[in-house]
Amino acid sequence: MSWFSTGYESAQEAYNETPKSSSGKNDRVYLKADQTRRFLFLDDDPAAFWEHQFQYDGKWTNWEPCHERNKHLARLSGGSCPICKAYDDRWPYFVGCHTVIEMTPWFTKKDHIEMNFSRRIFAAKLGGKDKPGVLKKLEKLKSKHGRLRGLIFDIERPGKKTEVCGSDFDLIEKIDPGEIQAYSMEQLKSYVERRNKAVEDDKKKVSVEKLLEWSPWEPFNWEEKIKPRDISEIRAMFGKNAPSQESNGGGGSTGTKDDFKDGGVDDDIPY
Ligand SMILES: [Zn+2]
Repeated sequence: MSWFSTGYESAQEAYNETPKSSSGKNDRVYLKADQTRRFLFLDDDPAAFWEHQFQYDGKWTNWEPCHERNKHLARLSGGSCPICKAYDDRWPYFVGCHTVIEMTPWFTKKDHIEMNFSRRIFAAKLGGKDKPGVLKKLEKLKSKHGRLRGLIFDIERPGKKTEVCGSDFDLIEKIDPGEIQAYSMEQLKSYVERRNKAVEDDKKKVSVEKLLEWSPWEPFNWEEKIKPRDISEIRAMFGKNAPSQESNGGGGSTGTKDDFKDGGVDDDIPY
């Protein structure tokens, strides 16, 4: 049994409960305000759990599943969450993670090399009934289209006070789930051709095999991808040098009581 739950039914439970997670390197989708980017969804259902986002070492790119609200995790960790304790006015928020492939290229500053097709975490918040988050939107899109796997959306983040994953979905294409592999080969082959033609240095050339090794077009194994820290490690992080709430730099992305009610909308996080 996983410490998190899968599927939209669990999200419904948490949703009904209102009012009242560490993912290693930062490969979560983050859109700037007013930015639109294209993503292909690889799984139908989210890995869903209660999570904290917190500032550490001056950075907001830290996440940790709540060791109290996630019941199975609480049993493993002894039932108390050092982050909840450190911020008694900050609550964890409920998040659902999907696997996506980035489909909007960007270019390196120095060499102007095209970069594309990386596998990313699309982390969407559930929000509350007064202000549902992007996870509720994804649930509706899933029931409308019968699935999320294979759907390609242009996703826009319409403003600074909206979730960083983006919240406006424009369906671009529906790939049959059985065709995703063939589609990936087609996309990657032309990308490799384009990219290798543009770089002179052989060391910077890539192959379809290499790209698929770095970013397989397959759903993440969430057990591997999101590993809760050991409770002693968190205690050490939130011990004497616990990040103070005053120094949060307005990042404000850890859940607060109000966020909880309002849907946990993010402010801009400096990346
Ligand atoms: Zn907690």
